[in-house]
Amino acid sequence: MPPRVGIGFDLHRLTPRRPFVLAGIRIPSPLGPVGHSDADPLSHAVVDALLGAAGLGDIGDHFPDSDPRWKGTPGTEFLRRTAGMLSRRGLKPSGVDATLFCERPRLGPYKRAVASALARALGIPASSVNVKAKTMEGLGPIGQGRAVAAQAIAAVTTLRRGARRGPRRG
Ligand code: MG
Repeated sequence: MPPRVGIGFDLHRLTPRRPFVLAGIRIPSPLGPVGHSDADPLSHAVVDALLGAAGLGDIGDHFPDSDPRWKGTPGTEFLRRTAGMLSRRGLKPSGVDATLFCERPRLGPYKRAVASALARALGIPASSVNVKAKTMEGLGPIGQGRAVAAQAIAAVTTLRRGARRGPRRG
């Protein structure tokens, strides 16, 4: 099978007294994203990109915010579960590229650590994941520091024959 690709996008409002966590990495910030889960826009965008590449719908199909089971769930857990879903279908992520849009805090200093953490959660080499960070030049809700967003593109490929495995736990 040739590689298939998918795209993802996510945005969360920023409010005081919420932790700012991207792929399990805590970012020092007086504001954090608000949402039903841990509101990690990067993990959510990557999950949507992977589900899209695999033809498996979107994050709301699998982890609906109407389900109390997912309340406060870390983005890394959604990443692990998504990698497990792919694996059970004989697929694995072969590459992920993502861009973060955030005015404050500046995310540039964290992008490498976040990319490595994202790769760990997906069970793929760190070299297969790239994370970029941009500001919005002060424009719009993101530029005014009221929201953080992420977009992602992911490619999936087939696992080697006999290499199918269950979801990663832990
Ligand atoms: Mg989200």
